[in-house]
Amino acid sequence: MRYFEIRSPRWDEPGHWSGEYRALHRWHLPGVECPKCGTWAGMGAYPSVALSALEEPALAKVTGPVHFAEYMRLAGLVRTYLPPGIPIKGGSSFGPMVGTARGRFGPVTCWPSWEVVLREDAVELLKAEGLNGVIAVRMELKSRRSTTPALYELEARPLARLHPDCIGEWKTPPCDVCGRPEMFDLPPKRWLLRSSIPEGLDVFGLEGANPRVVSERFVEVIQRLGPADVTYRELPAAD
Ligand SMILES: [Zn+2]
Repeated sequence: MRYFEIRSPRWDEPGHWSGEYRALHRWHLPGVECPKCGTWAGMGAYPSVALSALEEPALAKVTGPVHFAEYMRLAGLVRTYLPPGIPIKGGSSFGPMVGTARGRFGPVTCWPSWEVVLREDAVELLKAEGLNGVIAVRMELKSRRSTTPALYELEARPLARLHPDCIGEWKTPPCDVCGRPEMFDLPPKRWLLRSSIPEGLDVFGLEGANPRVVSERFVEVIQRLGPADVTYRELPAAD
């Protein structure tokens, strides 16, 4: 199976679709002022993870990094709701996106560059074709037009890893005080560590990096629905 990064096209490439949305996830874990490794906030979105049962007002707003003790309290609350194997990281968002939308949307949209939004018929086709690992969460978007189709955010859990040879030495080691995982700058030339690829999944994310990865099958099924304003870049794999 071949794998591809899915991203928005370059800014100067002409697009087919006018669709835009403004939305935020329902819950947010802030970044942290860590006494050992400094102030930091990562990124990551788990729209399928609902935190309503926590009833914690501090998670319902977007803030900058918070004091260490407060971060550890909030991270401790959120941790039990995360799917197994997913590291907890400050700056992550949870729950469906809530906001507004306008214009016409293609089968798949990337905005911001790494975020993947699917039209309802695309979600249905991916499921009908039996693709695996497609976690699509309906966005709660208000639109002035009733004809705007339902849109779904594609969740990409960080299950695979970039190959250590393409990351090189420019990485920050993990922190044992705040629990921050290893971080690195996205290398311009990149490839997957073959042994880390989750077998049989058609969608997944990368540990420590934003790009969403989709399989050749995903690309083929989505292309049946016509043009979309996204680009695919092959991510080779190596041992
Ligand atoms: Zn730290």
